[in-house]
Amino acid sequence: MSDSYDVIVIGSGPGGYIAAIRAAQNGLETACIDKWVNHDGKTALGGTCLNAGCIPSKAMLESSELYERCGHEFGDFGIKVDKVELDLATMQKRRAGIVTQFTGGVAQLFKANGVTAYAGTARLEKGGKVVVVGLDGKQQTLSAKHVILAAGSEPMELKFMPFDGKNIVDSWDALEFDAVPKRLGVIGAGVIGLELGSVWRRLGSEVVILEALEEFLPMADSQVAKEAHKQFKRQGLDIRMGTKVTGARKGKNGITLSYDAGKGSETLAVDKVLVAVGRRPCAAGLLGKDTGVKLDQRGFVEVDEECFTGVEGVWAIGDLVRGPMLAHKASEEGVMVADLIAGKIAEVNYEVVPSIIYTAPEVAWVGKSEQELKKSGVPIKTGSFPFAANGRAKALGMAVGMVKMIAHKNTDEILGVHIVGPYASELIAEAVLAMEYRASAEDIQRTIHAHPTLSEALHEAALSVDNRALNAVNRR
Ligand code: FAD
Ligand code: AMP
Repeated sequence: MSDSYDVIVIGSGPGGYIAAIRAAQNGLETACIDKWVNHDGKTALGGTCLNAGCIPSKAMLESSELYERCGHEFGDFGIKVDKVELDLATMQKRRAGIVTQFTGGVAQLFKANGVTAYAGTARLEKGGKVVVVGLDGKQQTLSAKHVILAAGSEPMELKFMPFDGKNIVDSWDALEFDAVPKRLGVIGAGVIGLELGSVWRRLGSEVVILEALEEFLPMADSQVAKEAHKQFKRQGLDIRMGTKVTGARKGKNGITLSYDAGKGSETLAVDKVLVAVGRRPCAAGLLGKDTGVKLDQRGFVEVDEECFTGVEGVWAIGDLVRGPMLAHKASEEGVMVADLIAGKIAEVNYEVVPSIIYTAPEVAWVGKSEQELKKSGVPIKTGSFPFAANGRAKALGMAVGMVKMIAHKNTDEILGVHIVGPYASELIAEAVLAMEYRASAEDIQRTIHAHPTLSEALHEAALSVDNRALNAVNRR
């Protein structure tokens, strides 16, 4: 193995592995280093996303949703099911199988593209040097013209209740429970808390989500957040807003959480607790002495719009840098940096990064919310359409929620699309494409949407922006 490369990527998550593949496609001699070790002791490529995040969570969300629908909804479709039984071991085996297939896929892609993979912990030193400490403790020094830092993020702990891997757990452990906890406390009603809270509620846990903030999903459009909150509560997800967890005591019968909901200190007894209070960048140990790479106050590597750190040949992408902690944002930054290194023109359009919560109903949005636009004084017009009036949603038995579109009042340019409803994660792609091309609401109005499809709700929402929805009574 050579020890000198054009590009070394530290981290093989969706930021790093995509950057490495694109760099190799660009004809650059590329290596990618990762230290990830799974719970079975095996090393794996793919980072948080493939091993402990996006992919396993979606596998568990799908399995648990099917289980719930089978038990509670199939009757409405005229399907009698005698006895629905949970086989958690098989469900977990399926999740693990999907993960292995995809992480193995990254290894194959590396081979096919000529990317050299190293298993070990990497540290950037000055002058384009990278020290790798292998899993066997052996150290080697590599060098490269360019280094892309893609070390990702890790779950944040609450000081007063450190993770123990068993009863006080992070999202990775909570994906791999081998028994359904009777009472599960979830701290934080962010994306991860809601998704994993939904999984275990569907599988039979009594789930209580405790959230310090008063406002539910403050980053989403408030109309959509309100609808989502209503639907989650209806399903039996006990979400307690304005509830700050302040302590935890382990006892024989589980854990007693102390919290403050404005009425003095109260307690909640649970069997397990998922702490989902956010993630922090993995910068510890990543930078040697005097590299010149700066961290901001919250520990993120400082970069400009092009993910350049300001130090010659050093770039940083993904969860390690500012912006939303999302896999597709990390990947796009990886592509941009690998292309910039190869002398190509590249950029990331940060205005149109979609956000998705894979609950049921799903929540998805792109662009600005109504409250954000109003606050910044932009003149807007809005339109919305309920899935209750969409034929396909009815046939699916998923006719809840709505699509909301916001356009500029004068130019008609689409400024935001917000969806809560069935397959919102898939529907949002049309809105992202439209906004990438700076489409107007009229462009969507004039686009033929097949019938009967969920996408017709987006069409109708665009029509509704001008009070011209066809399958709804318009405002006067
Ligand atoms: P990571 O995926 O975190 O990868 C970083 C890699 O760097 C890791 O493999 C790590 O081992 C390695 N590394 C770190 N330090 C070193 C070092 N010094 N030496 C060598 N290797 C190192 N995002 C979405 O877009 N959609 C989703 O549905 C979604 N679901 C999620 C569900 C959960 C439960 C979680 C936890 C996250 C989810 N995310 C989702 C977020 C997503 O996983 C991250 O945004 C994404 O993985 C970030 O990619 P990354 O490449 O920056 O870092
Ligand atoms: P996110 O960063 O989107 O994953 O969301 C994490 C959520 O956890 C945020 O909404 C925080 O307000 C919430 N949170 C952080 N600390 C606490 C705490 N001690 N008790 C309850 N909620 C918390």
